[in-house]
Amino acid sequence: MAKLQAAQNRLYKNLFLCKNCGAKIKVDPKKILEGKIKCRRCKKKKFRAHKKK
Ligand SMILES: [Zn+2]
Repeated sequence: MAKLQAAQNRLYKNLFLCKNCGAKIKVDPKKILEGKIKCRRCKKKKFRAHKKK
């Protein structure tokens, strides 16, 4: 099951939620940090990681 866990971590790693409207976007975290990603729905640039614990 460790393999599955790793795969899921990788999936969620690239998954971000728009802080404004909650839209899910799957991108390279590097691009988020570089500010290259805009939310498709509201055009905002604020994102957070999918899972925050
Ligand atoms: Zn949005």
